[in-house]
Amino acid sequence: MAGKPRIAIVGAGMGGLAVAATLRQAGFEVAVYEQAGKFGRIGAGIQMMPNSMKVLRRIGIEDRLRDTAFAPYSHLNRKGDTGEVMRELPMPESLYNAPYLCMHRADLHDALLSVVPMDVIYLNKKLTGLDQKGGQVTLSFSDGSKATADAVIGADGVHSIVRDIVVGPDTPIHRGRIAYRAVFPASLMDRDIGRSRTKWWGTDRHIVIYYTTRQKSEVYFVTSVPEPAEWLTKESWSAKGDVKELRAAYDGFHEDVRAVLGACPDCHKWAILERDPLRTWSDGNVVLLGDSCHPMTPYMAQGAATSIEDAAVLARCLSDVAGDDIAGAFKRYEAHRKPRTSLVQGLSSANTWMKDGSYDTSWLYGYDAWNADLDRPADNSQEAWASLKKAS
Ligand code: FAD
Repeated sequence: MAGKPRIAIVGAGMGGLAVAATLRQAGFEVAVYEQAGKFGRIGAGIQMMPNSMKVLRRIGIEDRLRDTAFAPYSHLNRKGDTGEVMRELPMPESLYNAPYLCMHRADLHDALLSVVPMDVIYLNKKLTGLDQKGGQVTLSFSDGSKATADAVIGADGVHSIVRDIVVGPDTPIHRGRIAYRAVFPASLMDRDIGRSRTKWWGTDRHIVIYYTTRQKSEVYFVTSVPEPAEWLTKESWSAKGDVKELRAAYDGFHEDVRAVLGACPDCHKWAILERDPLRTWSDGNVVLLGDSCHPMTPYMAQGAATSIEDAAVLARCLSDVAGDDIAGAFKRYEAHRKPRTSLVQGLSSANTWMKDGSYDTSWLYGYDAWNADLDRPADNSQEAWASLKKAS
């Protein structure tokens, strides 16, 4: 192959845009194919921890996010009914050399879009098939069109078709739980929700609450509650929930929680899906990234963060081979990344992270995807695996 490979990315979500940005910075030509006809403003918040903020810093969007996002004082974990503090981890920037920010999901997406020009993003392109021949991959789309590339990155989310092609079809796991979520004006509240991101723990449910803007103008919450099986078939960002049912589900919670739910005008409802770690992430010149290969529950706020870490590591692996051994670069990426993402998938599924003071957090938030040793698996540390042992 003459020069650097041309890389097609399927999906313009958090991971797809992040890898478009890291690859372009490394001098690769990219084309991003997205099934949606336009980008909507999905009503949800998102937390960016120091591990992903380090990647976003090098992509060039840290300052933009700092200008608009809320910087919580701490991770605060409280008992759902009494409010007793179970664990508080202050998150000054000096702790892991990057900020901890909470923001509107659309603000993060817009920031990523600001470093990926629209002329490399093709909308209304729903991938239906991939064919590898002679070192080239042909992509087929539902509108009948085709495109070719030297390599393909499947960043097409939890229902990934690229994953189906690489490892075969299966269905995501649902464990009988749903998330209610809403973003609404803080002016609807009769009180300040505090300086931290707070997780309120009940016996079989929880709720996470935080501001999404620096001015504290918007409040966001996301829950996890049991739900009858018939509702749980498909992840959907648009399904509506019943705010009265939601309030009833948190009836016994602290008045600060009830005040948030009381002020919330309406909410969305989302089936929580996950998968076990996959046997492989790549096939020849096709590789997976983000939720397509390691979807996880949102309980550790690491789904997008680990996708963004993937983006930095994948660009580093491809740069190191300068296009000569794409399949080898993909295997090296997987060998480094999979131990870490599998660990986070397992821990996130258990939903005990930070519930008490005994979890070591440095391996998770201290990871630096730009400088990690790519020839060693990420997070093989005893501290990291002790967390999973403790959770299971
Ligand atoms: P996505 O962002 O889902 O993007 C996939 C893209 O691929 C979409 O644009 C989709 O339209 C496109 N696509 C799909 N199929 C095709 C196709 N056939 N052809 C073309 N395009 C296609 N993570 C955090 O780090 N912090 C948090 O605080 C956090 N909170 C969360 C709260 C909730 C309620 C939920 C549901 C998730 C949360 N996550 C969080 C997880 C995070 O949202 C995901 O892990 C992240 O969006 C994954 O990024 P992705 O690019 O892999 O997939």
